[in-house]
Formats: sequence, structure tokens, C-alpha cells
Amino acid sequence: MIIDFHCHVGKDSSDEEYEHLNLEELKRSMDKWGVDKAVVFPFNGDDESLIEESLEILEKSKEADWIVPLLRINPKSLSKDELSGLLDKGFKGIKLHPRAQDFDLDDEKYFWVYEMCVDRELPVLFHSSVKDSTSKPEKILSIAERFPDLKVVMAHFFGNDFSIMKIAKDYPNLYVDTSMNSGTMKRLQTVNKYGFKNMVFASDIPYDSQGVALLKIREAGFSEENEDLILGGNAAKILGLIPEMVVEKRERGEGDGK
Ligand SMILES: [Zn+2]
Repeated sequence: MIIDFHCHVGKDSSDEEYEHLNLEELKRSMDKWGVDKAVVFPFNGDDESLIEESLEILEKSKEADWIVPLLRINPKSLSKDELSGLLDKGFKGIKLHPRAQDFDLDDEKYFWVYEMCVDRELPVLFHSSVKDSTSKPEKILSIAERFPDLKVVMAHFFGNDFSIMKIAKDYPNLYVDTSMNSGTMKRLQTVNKYGFKNMVFASDIPYDSQGVALLKIREAGFSEENEDLILGGNAAKILGLIPEMVVEKRERGEGDGK
């Protein structure tokens, strides 16, 4: 099972000519490269459109089980009740982009969002960049430390802060998506030298090709076991897809036959 943990659908408000992708285009790419499931959320937009577009993706996911919908929000403009009501609809996690939505992810004001995700066992995918003061990898690390039961997914390979790959294994609830940054050697070092196994395959499509993103994992030289974890096993665990897979098997008459 191959799961792409970082896929944008819709249009970005800053450059609609280039930054757009619809679900059909995404599915075509997935079929071309053998990707089974996509974790999907909107591009950047105003606060209302983030929610509207997330809800559209959620609706589509009900007919298409290859879509894993995340809710993209601006936590500054949402109440606890509103977020709770939205999550009740069935999102599989939250996507936060602290630079685009202009908030400090480690500000105590937003801890209630993380607490709600802990209660619901939902992951939070954070945009991460060493260049963005609001989205610095070390801030995401501090959230992983403060909320040990929160599944924290740091996007863009440690936000390009390679010092973090050396200490990441000390945070068992921390996961890192492989999109955009780093080459094959840094990825291999992270796993084989520094013992961090919680990487999840991600392309950030359409900003990068799923095929190129896959090749940068397949060519890294991981053991088969680690490659399987990175390509889908870790993501299935984070998203709670493993029990579902067991049920599917049983329904098809496979598995243990009980
Ligand atoms: Zn992205």
C-alpha cells in the first residue's frame, strides 16, 4: 500500500495559473505511479474557503476511498465548538500552515486544537520550514514534546533543518513527510544512521511530481522493511487505516476466516 501524505487539491489564491490540481488529475497521477491513497487538503485561501474546500474533499472521499481528507483551518478564526462539529463529519486529521495563516504554532492560545486532536486520535500535519519564523521545525518539535500522545507530522523533511534528523528518534510521536526537501543520502542517513523510522512518503503534488517523489525513496537504498514503512505502513498507522484493512480482508473472505 502506497500512501502520499501531502496532496493539494483546488487552486491557490496566490498563483491560480500554476498552483492548481483537481481530484481527477490527482487520481490520474496516482494511477500512473501506483499510489493507492492520497491525503488531500486545499491550497491556501481565505479562512472560509479553506473550510468549504475541505468539506468538498470530505464529501468526495465518501464515494472514493482513495481520498483521505484532512481539514485545513486557520485556528485564529475558529471556536472549539466549530472545530469539534467539523471533525465530527469524519476528517482524518488537520493540516496547519502557520506561515500562510499567520499564527505561531507553539503559542498556548492554540493548544486546545492539539488537545482536541489527541482526544480524537487524529494527526496534525504542520507545514514546516527553517525559513519561516512561525513554522520553524524546532517549534513543531516542542509540540511533539508537550503532547506526547499527539501524532505530529512535520512536512517537508524536517523543514530543511538537518540538525533535527539527528535527534528526531527521541520523539516517538513525531513523523516527517518526505516532500520537497533533501536528497536520497540524507533520507538514508536519517533511518540507518540516526535510527528515525517515522518518515512518510509525500509529494506535495502539484508542487512536485509523485513519480519523482517516489523515486527519491526507492533510490535511497532503504531495506525492504523500512521502504514499506515509509511508503505506506507508517501513514496507515497514523491514519488508523490498519483496522479498516483487516475488516476489508475479512469481508472479502480472506484473513483468518472468523
Ligand atoms: Zn503543501
